[in-house]
Amino acid sequence: MELSALRGVGAATLARLQSLGLRSASDVLLHAPLRYEDRTRLTLIGHLRHGEDALVEGVIQSVEKGHKNRAQQTTWRASLADASGVLNLWFFNPPPGVASALQPGQALRVFGPVKGGLVGFDMAHPELVRLPAPLATTLTPVYPSLAGLSQGVLRRLVSDILALWGRDAALLQDYLPAQWVAAHDLVTLREAVLHLHQPAPGFVSGKRPFDVARERLVFEELLAQQLAMRRWKRHAKFGHATALAGGGSLAKRLLESLPYGLTGAQVRVLREITDDLAQSRPMRRLVQGDVGAGKTVVAALAACAALGAGQQVALMAPTELLAEQHQRNLTGWFEPLGISVMALTGSLKGVARRKALEAVALGHVGVVTGTHALFQEGVAFHELGLIIIDEQHRFGVQQRLALSEKGRQGERHPHQLVMTATPIPRTLAMTAYADLDVSVLDELPPGRTPVATAAVPDSRRDEVMARLGSACRAGRQAYWVCTLVEESEKLEAKAAEEAHQTLCAALPDLRVGLVHGRMKPRDKEAVMRAFKQGELDILVATTVIEVGVDVPNASLMVIENAERLGLAQLHQLRGRVGRGAVESSCVLLFSPPLSAIAKERLAVMRESNDGFLIAEKDLELRGPGEFLGTQQTGLARMRFADLARDGALIPKVREAADGLLRDYPQAVEPLIERWVGAGMELVKV
Ligand code: ADP
Ligand code: MG
Repeated sequence: MELSALRGVGAATLARLQSLGLRSASDVLLHAPLRYEDRTRLTLIGHLRHGEDALVEGVIQSVEKGHKNRAQQTTWRASLADASGVLNLWFFNPPPGVASALQPGQALRVFGPVKGGLVGFDMAHPELVRLPAPLATTLTPVYPSLAGLSQGVLRRLVSDILALWGRDAALLQDYLPAQWVAAHDLVTLREAVLHLHQPAPGFVSGKRPFDVARERLVFEELLAQQLAMRRWKRHAKFGHATALAGGGSLAKRLLESLPYGLTGAQVRVLREITDDLAQSRPMRRLVQGDVGAGKTVVAALAACAALGAGQQVALMAPTELLAEQHQRNLTGWFEPLGISVMALTGSLKGVARRKALEAVALGHVGVVTGTHALFQEGVAFHELGLIIIDEQHRFGVQQRLALSEKGRQGERHPHQLVMTATPIPRTLAMTAYADLDVSVLDELPPGRTPVATAAVPDSRRDEVMARLGSACRAGRQAYWVCTLVEESEKLEAKAAEEAHQTLCAALPDLRVGLVHGRMKPRDKEAVMRAFKQGELDILVATTVIEVGVDVPNASLMVIENAERLGLAQLHQLRGRVGRGAVESSCVLLFSPPLSAIAKERLAVMRESNDGFLIAEKDLELRGPGEFLGTQQTGLARMRFADLARDGALIPKVREAADGLLRDYPQAVEPLIERWVGAGMELVKV
């Protein structure tokens, strides 16, 4: 069903829904909340606690309006009282609907975060309802959204569609037969979806961490993935590739030019790769190695096999910054050997772009680097022998498939090498990576010292800055990382700009650079190069440096708002230091008070440098309230399943897939279509 047919969905809303990936009523029904708020229970003002969200009812006593500031903005304060106390409500330029409710004598129900304690409580920008109004009986979902699309609009849309779905089951069909569902101890799709959007209170209280409704959706998604994978494997068996051997002399020359020898693990993994490449079936190999294990050089040596056979290599990275770094490294390695390396970035435009594409198509270029956007436009290769995908663990099987198809020539597929720093549990390797063989780079290059890590409260920020200053005066280089929880590049960039100004002012004798996601690629590149060459002492950065960035001389790192990050992300970030021989340290700045989980996370970071252990702890520490953990662990993106957490279900899912294929084969296609989607179109057989 078209969303535009629904109440209140105009062109602007429609566009925003589309960018969230919501195109139809069924997409909306399967739009998973990030978390829930409990607005079913009232709290007395006298019982409020700092740092918690609360639902309060009271009567407005008084309203004060501040003066307009230069930007014509006004601060309002309204005091709301119940029998047990008074709460201050703060608004900054309240919209008319809110302003009109702020009248002395008006009875209101408000919901928002509580701050303060000693001299009364404050609540900034609460959501409010005029009383009387019925109290919610189910939890209130908070959906992933974007600017301009309010929770209110999403909630109304969901409840309208739920009502429609009650009358027209075809809006979202349950493809799994009722008998089958019951036999597998699952609930129906209807029950699951209702519970997803309107869960009964108590759901997030931790009593039922593996909720039955979520289990149904997770199960269905994993099942679809499993079915898709089987189809893909059947298909891949018939694939052909050019056998690549004879890159030996090129690889030897590259090795001789390196200032170090390979580790035992690098040698072993490289052999596993070259053995695959020598086959006339397409390689699908995943190289897994902790941050700093030295995956890049392994990839370059693997590329030699293709280059030596006169074929081209494409290397893709998840961020521009990382793609630029690869471009620099590979140019340094390959140009002296007479092989040209070209970056295909978004900033390459017009005639230059046309010429570049032509050179690639004619085979004048050996290696092409870029982000995965590189493949989204019509880049034609002369003969693409190998695709290398770096740190691409956030992408699922469908993206990999699409890439492989794009590089296909006739019956022949390019070989594929995927590299990741994220440890992958075995069960996971059986689903999302079922089409890949796995090599493990389980040894760090010699001479690394673990990064000494300390957690320091924000109040000691000036002291941290001063210490950073003296270390840099003694010749060290440092990252200052600004992080925010909201995935907003804009806000992150703003925070970084502010930190940059503060550091410049506090340490005027030092050279402080700035890099963030909203800068032009060329500017980013220039700043990174300057930092790498030691022309900057401190680099203020956003999480754009999270993956892959390699500046061995940088040995200090300060991470702001560390308490808000997951362990996997902290580990990735910290992996930017400790790459050289000097002893490195990392300061995790946090603002108290810390939640119990945040406290434990910081403790884990202080105590361990081991990616595997940290990943395990990450799973343990994630609470049932965290619905979508995939971004945090960085594992392949799924809607409901979190492969790390739900791994235990996999054996059951595999069995279920057998049964479904045997007894209800007609359910297979629609399930794959629903969950795995368009990527699989390519491999219908
Ligand atoms: P990652 O596995 O995180 O991608 P990189 O490929 O960026 O790691 O390598 C990290 C650092 O280790 C780089 O500075 C690289 O030059 C260095 N390095 C790689 N292999 C070796 C080795 N065998 N001996 C010493 N240093 C190495
Ligand atoms: Mg890397």
